[in-house]
Amino acid sequence: MQSLEEVRAYVSEHLVSLDPKEVLLDEANGLITTEAIYAKEPIPSFVNSSLDGFALRAHECAAALTNLEVVETILAGTLPSKELAPGECARIMTGAPMPDGADSVSPVEATAPTPNDPNRVVIKEAVTLGQGVRTIGSDVSVGDLLFREGTVLSPGALGVLAAQGYRHVKVKGPVRVGVLSTGDELIDVTTPLRPGTIRDANRHTLLALCREQGFIGVDLGIVGDNETDIRAVFVDASTRCDVVVSSGGVSMGEVDFVKKVLAEECEEMRWFQIAIRPAKPFAFGLLKEKIPFFGLAGNPVSAMVAFELIVRGAIRQMLGHSNTHRAPITARAGAPFDNSGVNRTTYFRARYVEGASALEVVPQSAQESHQLTAMAGAQLLGIVEPGRLIAPGDPIEILAIDESALAYALSMQKAAS
Ligand code: AMP
Ligand code: MG
Repeated sequence: MQSLEEVRAYVSEHLVSLDPKEVLLDEANGLITTEAIYAKEPIPSFVNSSLDGFALRAHECAAALTNLEVVETILAGTLPSKELAPGECARIMTGAPMPDGADSVSPVEATAPTPNDPNRVVIKEAVTLGQGVRTIGSDVSVGDLLFREGTVLSPGALGVLAAQGYRHVKVKGPVRVGVLSTGDELIDVTTPLRPGTIRDANRHTLLALCREQGFIGVDLGIVGDNETDIRAVFVDASTRCDVVVSSGGVSMGEVDFVKKVLAEECEEMRWFQIAIRPAKPFAFGLLKEKIPFFGLAGNPVSAMVAFELIVRGAIRQMLGHSNTHRAPITARAGAPFDNSGVNRTTYFRARYVEGASALEVVPQSAQESHQLTAMAGAQLLGIVEPGRLIAPGDPIEILAIDESALAYALSMQKAAS
């Protein structure tokens, strides 16, 4: 058996990074820039009002209750038609260009209409010079470094690039992950069950896990345990995927075809027995064009755990992330986590104890690798080394398996410190 660390290291060494490519902004959320990006334009690019109000000269309104003549209304997207003369102001909307002659804006809330004269306004409060005005470049100046190479693009970052007139951005990814299920016993959701058949759960789970990570999931369907079909899927996958993930057919005593085809189609094909429970059997290879192939065990819990422990981090590496695999967090056991008599590290499917004073976790009652319902209800994996029993109250290392579970763990840790 190999340790999880050995398997991760082997996979990591054999992965090829995705080539940088230009993608449309709207396809770049969460992807990583492969070059530094600089500002081409100042933002704002013209002096404008930050308020709905009246553009005026501050020194004329240094005292309260100044009465001014309103000479025009300037809307966002229009241009002022005149320069303000002394005693004049312009009604102005947020984002509209400031008229010449004006240097400040009084908010509409600090003004009052003049009775019987719609062309005059009372500025009720003293105005300070520059108030309510956004100057050129006050957000971004030309030449500013917007994003370093290696920045994970966030929704806000995409807005910055859009505001700069960038239509495309150079990134790694998006990554297209082909997912297939192998097994003669498998049928899809709509097919009636016959004796000996089971429905394919894994493909739906793995596609959703991919999409949750921001990967593009490509459905490669169900493939029977025969050479022709398996080969056809790999050939098809290599034309439209960057990564292939399969479940089933990698354990001991398998139908030989999967192994045979993979041995022929892959460079560097390796079959592992990982010293973990679940997800002991695992295969990794490089298909033609160096497309990584991950062969996960068929048991649904094993497939999910292998995705969490190996595939997710590996694909993040291809995308250029520096934090690839999830980092363990220390919690407190709220019940026994019993791995005594087991020669592998167990990743117990577990939940937080809500309302506990600390970050406390308990194992799900069902821990067999076909018991997907317990995995589906889990928030974390509790890591217990071979032969160990973690007693209630003892510390335990955990992996939070989704963003909300991670956020909960971090908030409880922060509250405790
Ligand atoms: P295998 O890894 O192919 O030996 O499969 C191990 C167990 O997982 C067997 O009970 C299979 O029937 C089951 N299994 C394999 N693939 C799937 C799948 N896609 N969905 C649900 N169960 C599966
Ligand atoms: Mg099988």
